[in-house]
Amino acid sequence: MGHLTPALRLAAMLSSKNCQVTLITPQPPVSTAESSHIAAFLAAYPTVNRLDFQIVPYTPPEPTDPFAVQFEAVIRSVHLLTPLLASVSPPLSAFFSDITTAAGGHQVAEDLGLPHYVVSLSARFSSFVASITVWKYDGNHGLASFDISTIPSPFFLPNHLFTKTLVSNARALSKAKGILLNTFHAFEPETITSVNDGKFIPDFPPLLPIGPFEPHKLEIGDHKPLPWLDQQPPKSVVYVSFGSRTAMSRDQIRELGKGLEESGFKFLWVLKAKIVDKDDNEGPEEIVGDSFIGRTKHNGLVIKGWVNQEEILSHPAVGGFVSHVGWNSVMETAVRGMPMLAWPLLGDQKVYAGLVEAVGLGVWEKSWGWLGERLVKGEEIAKMVKKVMCDESLRESATIIGEEGMNAIKVGGSSYKVLMGTIQNLSI
Ligand code: UDP
Ligand code: UDP
Repeated sequence: MGHLTPALRLAAMLSSKNCQVTLITPQPPVSTAESSHIAAFLAAYPTVNRLDFQIVPYTPPEPTDPFAVQFEAVIRSVHLLTPLLASVSPPLSAFFSDITTAAGGHQVAEDLGLPHYVVSLSARFSSFVASITVWKYDGNHGLASFDISTIPSPFFLPNHLFTKTLVSNARALSKAKGILLNTFHAFEPETITSVNDGKFIPDFPPLLPIGPFEPHKLEIGDHKPLPWLDQQPPKSVVYVSFGSRTAMSRDQIRELGKGLEESGFKFLWVLKAKIVDKDDNEGPEEIVGDSFIGRTKHNGLVIKGWVNQEEILSHPAVGGFVSHVGWNSVMETAVRGMPMLAWPLLGDQKVYAGLVEAVGLGVWEKSWGWLGERLVKGEEIAKMVKKVMCDESLRESATIIGEEGMNAIKVGGSSYKVLMGTIQNLSI
């Protein structure tokens, strides 16, 4: 969902500015959340063309995360898009592809004679990925300001599937016409300026910050309304969610429950016990226990299933967010000026946790490591939840970030200008 969501939002943003958009939907998707979002998106934006793309199934040598398998299957199938796209009418003027398929996307665009734009997440992670191409084995890795401890663990395994794929995508980044980012200038000013001033890799394409991406208002069938939230005082509830695909261990779930209870704050906790939503069939009582639900029934709500996160983050009762710092979650929080507690799970998320802390949007307890690396005790969690909910200077700095994010996407704002400039370039 962390890659599908920005793709759908970008498609909506372009479509609402009179671009004719064709959305390529790899079939079959992995999760129910993907299928329901694509269906709801196409219903809400009837002028968007749908191009179903049957991907060639991929069987990994050993059992792997189903989303990683899907990424690999898509990557291995991308070249099959060339004949399909050649016959789209009216003819295409550009091809936009996610950073995970940048290498194949670049090839397709080149075969069709189209400009290629890469859709990526943050400026910092995009430039980090690009810097791989200039890394040296002596440890000099091009971007001196990178903290080795935040580097995703698979990068230390050169034969890891993830690493191999990223290296080929990194090369394609340098050849793109532009790199569209769901970020805004004030969130990552140094990285954006130094890359765009040519101080990073010579002739590197422009970073095009056009975020925070505007939410699309989709009607997803199983969204649960939350009347409970409406009854809570302003900024009294901490929202706890680890994205669309985090399966937390039972022990960690128990400690998180203890921590939330001990913090004394009200909480809205979205639980996920399996990576793929279709396999996640237990009710909340079975996971956190009847006694926890009974004890906390006046103070908290535990939910299983898909929630409308943006609606929750916009609710006046919500005052803080405990998050795995997926980039979409970071931007959704930033634009609302909501303080967050970063608890990175995997991949690029320590980079984001570092950014969140550096800009003053939230706090990150580095000693917790990756989510799942060690059992973080209830009392440690309670302490950090209190910090996020009570620290007034953090709330003030988060509010300023929220204002900067809103200003960026307003007519005439920095992100608005870059988006309009990009669209203008498409028709040249
Ligand atoms: N999301 C949501 N409801 C859920 C879980 C996730 O609306 O129950 C949305 C969330 O708002 C975000 C996206 O799904 O837009 C998740 O992306 P993110 O980058 O935060 O994390 P990922 O799920 O990819 O790890
Ligand atoms: N932009 C770009 N390449 C593109 C599309 C847009 O560099 O393919 C950027 C451009 O650098 C500028 C912004 O989009 O920062 C606005 O573009 P516009 O043409 O409106 O302004 P200009 O920079 O020409 O004054």
